[in-house]
Amino acid sequence: MPTAKPIVIMGAGPAGLTAAWQLIQAGRRDVVVWESDPSYVGGISRTVQAEGFRFDIGGHRFFSKSEEVNEVWRQIMPDDFVDCPRLSRIFYKGKFFNYPLEAMNAFLNLGLVETVNILWSYFMARLKPIRPELSFSAWVTNRFGKRLFEIFFKSYTEKVWGISCDEISADWAAQRIKGLSLREAVIAAFKGTKAAPTAKTLIRNFFYPRLGPGQMWETAANKILEKGGGIFLDRKVQTIHWDETGVTHITGINSAGEFFQQEGSHFLSSIPLQELMLSLDPPPPKEVLAAARALRYRDFLTVCLIVNREKVFPDTWIYIHDPSVKVGRVQNYKNWSAAMVPDPGMTSLGMEYFCFEGDNIWTATDFDLAQLAIREAAQIGLIAPSEVKDAFVVRMPKAYPIYDQHYQDHLKVIKDWVCLFANLQPVGRNGMHHYNNQDHSMMTAMLAVRNIQGAHYDCWKVNTDAEYHEDSSKTEGSLKTFKVAFRSKTDSSPQEEEVKALTENDARSLVQAKFGLATHLIVSVTEIKG
Ligand SMILES: Cc1cc2nc3c(=O)[nH]c(=O)nc-3n(C[C@H](O)[C@H](O)[C@H](O)COP(=O)(O)OP(=O)(O)OC[C@H]3O[C@@H](n4cnc5c(N)ncnc54)[C@H](O)[C@@H]3O)c2cc1C
Repeated sequence: MPTAKPIVIMGAGPAGLTAAWQLIQAGRRDVVVWESDPSYVGGISRTVQAEGFRFDIGGHRFFSKSEEVNEVWRQIMPDDFVDCPRLSRIFYKGKFFNYPLEAMNAFLNLGLVETVNILWSYFMARLKPIRPELSFSAWVTNRFGKRLFEIFFKSYTEKVWGISCDEISADWAAQRIKGLSLREAVIAAFKGTKAAPTAKTLIRNFFYPRLGPGQMWETAANKILEKGGGIFLDRKVQTIHWDETGVTHITGINSAGEFFQQEGSHFLSSIPLQELMLSLDPPPPKEVLAAARALRYRDFLTVCLIVNREKVFPDTWIYIHDPSVKVGRVQNYKNWSAAMVPDPGMTSLGMEYFCFEGDNIWTATDFDLAQLAIREAAQIGLIAPSEVKDAFVVRMPKAYPIYDQHYQDHLKVIKDWVCLFANLQPVGRNGMHHYNNQDHSMMTAMLAVRNIQGAHYDCWKVNTDAEYHEDSSKTEGSLKTFKVAFRSKTDSSPQEEEVKALTENDARSLVQAKFGLATHLIVSVTEIKG
């Protein structure tokens, strides 16, 4: 049922557009999306176009364990996918290692002495694991041994994150390399391509939209617009206004400096969580602002080189572990889909650099970056500089939310406060400071939409595999009784309601939903013991 005020979505990436898509599918037309980018939808999953060449911000595999997510992809774009066989190798000390690991190839590249070193350090790590296992280096060393950590994880991971592996939280390793151990990698190596790997990082085939990931999100946006939804590009959210009833409206500007205002009944935010917190007016309490300011991001830029050669290398992408060059990964877009290049005689390579906004790489001129990329591509032995016909630079700020040792503490402070809003839900990658793939962003958006329709999901419980995970201990039997004191909108004298819930926050949400209360009308929540 349309309401007087629309549902407002901040950001037109996979999360924002999935939310809009779901609402439109459910028959709502009162959906307004604000996107700061003047030209592209799709967020980090966009496809950039230059002179007929198309390229991703990192290659985007379409793979999800969630059937609901796969179904949304199929609904938006029923066909026009290619089945992409993955070939990705690691370049280290002048040699190419197959990835996933292949025993003979690794042995031939490393030699007998290094192989013995690796096995020895693996057995030592099994005998004497590092405890407590807090950092990325400890997590990986305990499972692969110190030597393998140094060769295959340390230099690349430090390129990606720009901080020492000792500072990176073990959470990130557990999330990204989950299910993979030396034992599984070796078994997969011996079974060859027939093995069905359990670790996501070893998946060998995936779907890819014929014209890149942006095709999915451009199609979604067009269909949303056709059905009456509103998507406004070049509209940057600057301030999120709220009062005791919850969020009331947002204001923002476009690149010409024009000012806009949008009222709404519900607000979904996929803009970076830090930005969301710092845009609230009135501002949140000091400790929440401090936690938001402490969240960190890693930025990313691609130098796309147009090479006058039909075939440069067979891989979809190559990881560059070699510390002698700054480039972290090289994409070969036509190996994802032939339609990514306008001329089959040409190749477009994405030289990917991980950086921090404001550092030497980020602030270098496009000309200098093109020179660096050409030099490094030649140094690795991929091309000759004379083969490069053109180069384009694309900068993507906040490409990665950083999982440092303290991010969870900061996140908890923010979560505990932001959940007080009954009509504001953060969703998505930077929206929830979750290092994810598209499927996680989409699932959080899908659950947030269901919450608008009356459900009570905690979107923070969607895991990296896009599954909604209730803690198994949280069964009926573990429900607690809470007394929730609140004020109504019209009457300032407090009332009380007893509810059964798993947590204080759930109790608060239940009462808010039951009485249609805004966040700040809740006075207190106390557990009744016994
Ligand atoms: C290098 C790289 C490779 C990746 N590879 C894969 C892959 O293989 N498979 C996969 O599934 N995923 C991959 N991902 C992850 C994928 O890109 C993200 O999960 C996905 O794009 C997140 O969607 P989102 O909508 O949550 O956020 P985003 O994509 O970040 O979208 C957020 C949107 O909000 C907009 N916005 C920000 N601030 C404002 C503001 N103030 N006002 C209005 N709008 C604003 C942004 O412009 C953006 O469009 C990769 C990511 C990277 C960096």
